[in-house]
Amino acid sequence: MNLFDLKGKVAVITGGNGGIGLGMARGIASCGASIIIAGRDEQKAATALAALHEMGANASFIVADVTKKAECEALIAQTVAKHGHADILVNNAGTSVRKMPQDLSEEEWHHVLDTNLTSAFLCSQAAYPVMVKAGGGKMINIGSMMSLLGAPFGAAYASSKGGIVQMSRAMATAWAKDNIQVNAVLPGWIDTELTKGARRQVQGLQDSVEKRTPQGRWGVPDDMAGVAAFLASSASDFVTGTAIPVDGGFSIAM
Ligand code: NDP
Repeated sequence: MNLFDLKGKVAVITGGNGGIGLGMARGIASCGASIIIAGRDEQKAATALAALHEMGANASFIVADVTKKAECEALIAQTVAKHGHADILVNNAGTSVRKMPQDLSEEEWHHVLDTNLTSAFLCSQAAYPVMVKAGGGKMINIGSMMSLLGAPFGAAYASSKGGIVQMSRAMATAWAKDNIQVNAVLPGWIDTELTKGARRQVQGLQDSVEKRTPQGRWGVPDDMAGVAAFLASSASDFVTGTAIPVDGGFSIAM
């Protein structure tokens, strides 16, 4: 018995063309699944595909802006047209606008909520009938430490990431009868393009994260590979509605 065997399965990973999404794509690909990475930046996708192909993965890219319902639907439809099914969905695409609540425009609020939360709702809704038809599936939604904690500059981001946890729980209860497991992953501070921006904005962030994290370092995208393999595979068949921190202990330290 190989609990992590994903041969014959197909995984769609939004924002899989870089950062955490690519780390998760690598984890799922290492178990044998075919990979579709989705995003807007084709150049970044070419580099990501090269890395996936280098490890022997069957991987391709579909252009999609996941803030748009029609593009979420097209992403799943194109995946099914190519592979016949879509068994694993990782809702990873995300963004941040770091501003005090009083300075955040309505447009910025909607941009963050649309990218981080509504996109996950729309892609999950599009994937649901496909997974039902296949007899089950796995959905993995990416939250954050700000699913748990507040920060002065995080009104929109924390709202979206808190929403990811509650949406995962709601969908887990709704779709358990369809053998679809829905879980959230809460990354700690991971070295990606997103947090390079944060480190430019916040002086001392590099050091303060290292000090606050019991494991004493920033995460790297490949730290997300194991949890992705677990939640995508039959190893997690009785795990649903959870929110798993992958944070070097950040969330449990005083
Ligand atoms: P990156 O900026 O490296 O990756 C974000 C990805 O999302 C990009 O690949 C981008 O692709 C994609 N994306 C953004 N907007 C859209 C859109 N409208 N349509 C399609 N794709 C989109 O950041 P991370 O890897 O750090 O972030 C990945 C996820 O992890 C996010 O949800 C983030 O909130 C979360 N997270 C990150 C943490 C960290 O420390 N890095 C900590 C906790 C959570 P493209 O540009 O091609 O559209």
